[in-house]
Amino acid sequence: MPVSDSVSRPDTDAASERLPINELFASLQGEGKLSGVSSTFVRTSGCNLRCWFCDSYHTSWEPTHAWMSVDEILAEVRDLDPDHVVVTGGEPLIHDEVSALLDRLADDYHTTVETNGTLETDAPVDLASISPKLASSTPTAENAPEGSEPGVWTEQHESRRIDLESLASLADHAEEVQLKFVVTGRDDLPEIESLVDDVRGVTAREIRDTDVLLMPEGQTREELARTRTEVADLAAEFGYRYTPRLHVDLWNDAPET
Ligand code: SF4
Repeated sequence: MPVSDSVSRPDTDAASERLPINELFASLQGEGKLSGVSSTFVRTSGCNLRCWFCDSYHTSWEPTHAWMSVDEILAEVRDLDPDHVVVTGGEPLIHDEVSALLDRLADDYHTTVETNGTLETDAPVDLASISPKLASSTPTAENAPEGSEPGVWTEQHESRRIDLESLASLADHAEEVQLKFVVTGRDDLPEIESLVDDVRGVTAREIRDTDVLLMPEGQTREELARTRTEVADLAAEFGYRYTPRLHVDLWNDAPET
């Protein structure tokens, strides 16, 4: 099973100008401030973290993809209707070519970059959807996906998951920002409060409580049904914003939703 922090590139010159694309499709944005907005999703493959609950397993624990040039990606985006484009992963910012894609999208589309916040970008971004990964995300022998190698990743994930310098850079750089936390329960809140304070201390941008989103962990309707009420109550109690996972609620996280 591939466990690299990136994806292996084919040994050709052409591949160096291409992106590993796991999915490219139009749907509704399922999470965050733009929930419900018609959007085109460009999902790159590969991630530098390994959250045990990863809902895009085929971009992280077991990356799969086709290699596409920026021109080919733009042609498919243009064939679809939405004016919003979500560049997501995996972790899209591990790929240098994402900058060229964001540059080309900037004139015609509203762009969201969904990132785990461990890397920076100079490319134009309308909404930085930053999802710092909490201690509860770290894979252990008990909760890692079946057949994976959590021992390899526990230490790497733990040491990489928070990078304040990158969080500050992303927050300062984008037109708008949201800090979106995957919440497994009340025990996550002290870390969220501490991290929000840390980010506020290093960015010039005002991070409002309404920019902090609590999102229930859960990759299926059944799992969400167990977590969302508690997380909604926590958002109300702490003054943060609750975000649904519409793609799970509506389509049970089927591919291309
Ligand atoms: S950072 Fe995101 S894509 Fe990467 S392993 Fe965690 S949930 Fe999956």
